[in-house]
Amino acid sequence: MLLIRGGRVVDPSARRDEVGHLVLSEGKVKEFLAGEAPKNFPGRVIPAEGRWVTPGLIDMHVHLREPGYEWKEDILSGTRAAAAGGFTSVACMANTKPVNDHPEVTRFILDKARREGFANVFPVAAVTRGLEGKEMTDFTELAEAGAVAFSDDGKPVASALLMRRALEYVRPFGYLIMTHSEDPELAEGGAANEGWTARKLGIPGIPAAAEEIAIAREILLARQTDGRVHIQHVSTKMGVDLLRMAKRAGLGVTGETAPQYFTLTDAALEGYDTNAKMNPPLRGEEDRMAILEGILDGTIDAVACDHAPHEDYVKRCEFTTAANGIIGLQTSLPLTLALTAGGKVSPVRIVDLLSAAPARLLSLTGKGTLVAGSDADVTVIDPATEWEFRPEEVLSKSRNSPFLGWKLRGRAVVTICGGKIRHSCVPGVEADA
Ligand SMILES: [Zn+2]
Repeated sequence: MLLIRGGRVVDPSARRDEVGHLVLSEGKVKEFLAGEAPKNFPGRVIPAEGRWVTPGLIDMHVHLREPGYEWKEDILSGTRAAAAGGFTSVACMANTKPVNDHPEVTRFILDKARREGFANVFPVAAVTRGLEGKEMTDFTELAEAGAVAFSDDGKPVASALLMRRALEYVRPFGYLIMTHSEDPELAEGGAANEGWTARKLGIPGIPAAAEEIAIAREILLARQTDGRVHIQHVSTKMGVDLLRMAKRAGLGVTGETAPQYFTLTDAALEGYDTNAKMNPPLRGEEDRMAILEGILDGTIDAVACDHAPHEDYVKRCEFTTAANGIIGLQTSLPLTLALTAGGKVSPVRIVDLLSAAPARLLSLTGKGTLVAGSDADVTVIDPATEWEFRPEEVLSKSRNSPFLGWKLRGRAVVTICGGKIRHSCVPGVEADA
């Protein structure tokens, strides 16, 4: 039994934002108690006065690199970084080696995560075999093995016909297809957002239209098939506008963005910092503002960090040849908490973006909520503490982050997964072995 005492309990699923106490028992949430804290509680007590108590955070877009690229990250190190960042669940993309296009790979990831994970791992399986964009995977077989969604992330599904067939196929089963929306020909050879910064630095550009054309295509195919599609890492203004239009038209389209797209612009590339190189690339200020607007008005459903670990070797090189992507699990929460400045985004909305919405989108029952009977996945957040993201703090095997050295505000002080304390920096509250 665990008592989380005196925190500000923020639970969008129950429309709750009030001070109280949360009791966990046998891996489940037992109850919320208002008023005086229970005396002589027969179990461990976590003091949470002045802190937020939220459903365990869920990141629906990470790369854990296992199997196949364990020198970049593995399930153990990736979920340890997740727990330290406040995440109790992550959905991992299929671009491993072998690709997660076969139930054996899905089961391998799940077994490994069950044995050594610091957080729940939900595999996302590939849409096409080998991510080659040619032949559909066996969605039913993969879902039965435990895949929660399908995406070729890292690569787009270039064929509109194949995407149409995939959307039609999954519709009766209710499986979710998520898309890395990019027109491969328009993006080819590019390494930064096409615009002033790229021109000045002499880096070949990726036009915003490469992403927007693909987003428009997914929306039109969702309409054509009466299907459901989720747009990954939306990064441009027109991308947000298209998503907004699709939602107004009542189409089954949702979208996520990543903290880097509302925190940074391509100005971060000055000095050829390859830790600011990613795909989609960091965009301009107008795009960044549009992403913020999309979060404010609900167009963007979720924040997911696209945690993409890479060793120094593939980042410490010439900009155009450097690998794409950044780690994000330990900085996603503070960067998203920054949205509360000025009172524009409420704590309830923050928790929706980082927990309740991903649970809804991936149909994770018992997650993203603190109602009685749900899983005892809880994050205790100190929203005010200031800290520096130093290299020594990094729990990933890779350190490719443009936020190293940043002063951040807010962090997860206790992360509880299935009733077990997986991370704690509260004195006197030891993590479980
Ligand atoms: Zn992607």
